[in-house]
Amino acid sequence: MDQTHKLVVVGGGVAGLDLATHLVGRRAGTQRLAVTLVDREPAYVWKPMLHTIAAGTSAAGTQETVYAAQAARRGFRYEFGDATGIDRDRREVRLAALQSGGAVIVPERVVSYDTLVLAVGSRANDFGTPGVEQHCARIDSRSDAIAFNDALRVHLLQCVAMNKPLSIGIVGGGATGVELAAELIEVAAVAEQYGLAGASNHLRVTLIEAGPRLLGPFPEKVADAARAKLEQLGVEVRVGMRVTSVDASGYALDGASPVPADLRVWAAGIKAPALMETLSGLERTKSGQLVVGPNLATAADHRIYALGDCASPRLPGREAPIPATAQAASQHARYLCQHLPALIAGQTVSAAGYHDFGSLVSLGGFDAYGTLGRFGFFKGGFIRGRVAQLGHALLYRSYQTRLHGLWRGSLLWLLDVLARSVKPAARLT
Ligand SMILES: Cc1cc2nc3c(=O)[nH]c(=O)nc-3n(C[C@H](O)[C@H](O)[C@H](O)COP(=O)(O)OP(=O)(O)OC[C@H]3O[C@@H](n4cnc5c(N)ncnc54)[C@H](O)[C@@H]3O)c2cc1C
Repeated sequence: MDQTHKLVVVGGGVAGLDLATHLVGRRAGTQRLAVTLVDREPAYVWKPMLHTIAAGTSAAGTQETVYAAQAARRGFRYEFGDATGIDRDRREVRLAALQSGGAVIVPERVVSYDTLVLAVGSRANDFGTPGVEQHCARIDSRSDAIAFNDALRVHLLQCVAMNKPLSIGIVGGGATGVELAAELIEVAAVAEQYGLAGASNHLRVTLIEAGPRLLGPFPEKVADAARAKLEQLGVEVRVGMRVTSVDASGYALDGASPVPADLRVWAAGIKAPALMETLSGLERTKSGQLVVGPNLATAADHRIYALGDCASPRLPGREAPIPATAQAASQHARYLCQHLPALIAGQTVSAAGYHDFGSLVSLGGFDAYGTLGRFGFFKGGFIRGRVAQLGHALLYRSYQTRLHGLWRGSLLWLLDVLARSVKPAARLT
């Protein structure tokens, strides 16, 4: 009779949900893979669209994949919980107790594994700046985005009703900060249309970046176009400004006057989740990512793999680090979907690769900019407008198709288009 091999995937995001969906039931030699997916959220919203949930221009309920439903449909087990530690000797992942209203409703548990895949993504990096933890919202997860939107709606109503300005300060001029700034301008314009007169005039969005320009990893042409558009929309862009501390009134800057902000969002840098700090004896980068080899396994423990934002793969013939993008997470998920069963069975397989298909940034309904990758006859050309917006949408739709299949994926797209044509353009109540 077949033996069962316990494959535990921690983190059901771009990479982890894809793996759980496609690896369940596969065979590794004589063993059948029994897959458990652990995530601390009940559902996943594709992370590159979290800023639209935060602004209210998309609804989490329409975009999310509910883990329990996906598990039931595809046959893997879903374990709801926050992974707080990994015991490599006992081969166990520890999950925090579940609490409700301050009371423990489920005690701490462990999930045991034969092979463990870590796909826990990343969070913004506060670089030890005082006050960030207490005074800044983050857009790192579905819950963060929903919580920010709750606060935003209250502040928008107050500023209109009480005829006072609403200042929002975003730290971090990467894709998250840039896209969120544009989305906030859009939501104020929608609020105005829906009778919240003065919402646009009352809103002041400031985007603060420590580096010399926005969108550091993007080509200069994309960054310049995005900055010009943001400024045209009324966003105050302050580059080369380092935040030294944050309090309830706003940001203190190094060598410049403070930036007042009623709502503060920290979207700078990235670092690996705290879980990675519990992994003793395994090599990690300065930002906490687990260093993995050509097959995405750690060098010191062949039972532990990592991919996506929480990993730093060392791939043959590649010096530059792999960027922390959905594109990379999804390519490496496909690699493990194909090769993990053989790797578990002890076979030799080819190394993972990485192809840069370009990068895109979408400024709400206003515009989008990007570059194509350097492959085939594409030579890294600049794209903008509808072509770039379509490229951005396709990245998401191909992910949905992979999770739900072509038929259901297409239906979800259609439902989304229909919902957008009959529902309000933004959530304001
Ligand atoms: C606003 C925004 C825009 C972006 N735009 C783009 C873009 O246009 N193109 C692009 O390629 N990339 C983009 N990115 C980056 C992209 O979203 C990430 O690189 C990608 O999501 C990484 O995938 P992942 O699977 O590693 O992690 P994630 O998709 O973040 O998933 C991690 C999962 O792990 C879970 N988790 C974390 N810690 C624990 C724990 N301790 N216990 C249990 N579960 C845990 C989380 O709940 C989450 O479900 C964007 C990111 C943001 C925030």
